[in-house]
Amino acid sequence: MNITRRTLLGSAGASAALGALGIRAGWAATDISLGDMVITTLSDGYLTQPADFMFAPMPQDALAAYLATRGIDRGAALTPECNVTLVRHEGRVILFDAGSGTGFLDTAGALPDALDALGVDPGDVTHVVFTHGHADHLWGVLDDFDDPFFYNAKHMMGQAEFDYWADPDTVNSIAEDRVPMAVGAKRRLDVMGDQMQFFGDGEEILPGVAARATFGHSPGHMSFELRSGSSSVMVVGDAILNDHVAFAHPDWPIGADSDREAAANVRKGLLDQLAQEQMTMIGFHLPNGGIGRVERQGDAFAFVPNQ
Ligand SMILES: [Zn+2]
Repeated sequence: MNITRRTLLGSAGASAALGALGIRAGWAATDISLGDMVITTLSDGYLTQPADFMFAPMPQDALAAYLATRGIDRGAALTPECNVTLVRHEGRVILFDAGSGTGFLDTAGALPDALDALGVDPGDVTHVVFTHGHADHLWGVLDDFDDPFFYNAKHMMGQAEFDYWADPDTVNSIAEDRVPMAVGAKRRLDVMGDQMQFFGDGEEILPGVAARATFGHSPGHMSFELRSGSSSVMVVGDAILNDHVAFAHPDWPIGADSDREAAANVRKGLLDQLAQEQMTMIGFHLPNGGIGRVERQGDAFAFVPNQ
């Protein structure tokens, strides 16, 4: 858990406390390799969200029929996994997103324990690359003293995403139920801003890591294509947000997306490409550690986890 300055890290009871909450602390889902990259997903725990946060803007009759086929209770809280991608490559230790930290939800914030279980110290992390600025991806960047948790790492974020959350007007213009998210993002980016590096669409931000603009879930959301030779793995963050409606009905608006039309277009484009190229993908909130591939099913798609 993201408790204190690093001198206090590793002390006492954090794993036991997480275990009592039912968090799969220290669970590294899957290692896959891509050339000389070792790619691991680490559990930060899971979210607990009201179903309407996802389902409210969808066509309700069609949604009810579809959820019945999947055995999903329309009224029950959603509890998607949070899977942070770790890439070890040529001496670099790269995290894609920083997890929730301690200030967001009791059910999330387990990333430090997952790293510990893997034998990775926060000081070993050389790069933290953000998909976007939502709480479950950004808030773990600082410890409880507001010091960078990954204290040796370079931190990198898409320019458009940083500009949106760092803008003092965002807290006034964002939907009311998202104000705490905007306040939390701005506070953290104010601390990190001077040492943050920025990038844009198509840039090779690190050797074998190319950024891809996938705006829509958030205003400057980025995905990342990991490349080795002719093989690739796509880290999609929240551009493909869940394993049910996002695949089966990619054109349905998802409540959690900030620009629902743009997000749907991005989602359809990614799903098409991933299915066509049979490229391995990693989704932050997809099940079984989030690593899998996309299978085309007529006009729709399905997620096929790696395990
Ligand atoms: Zn998320």
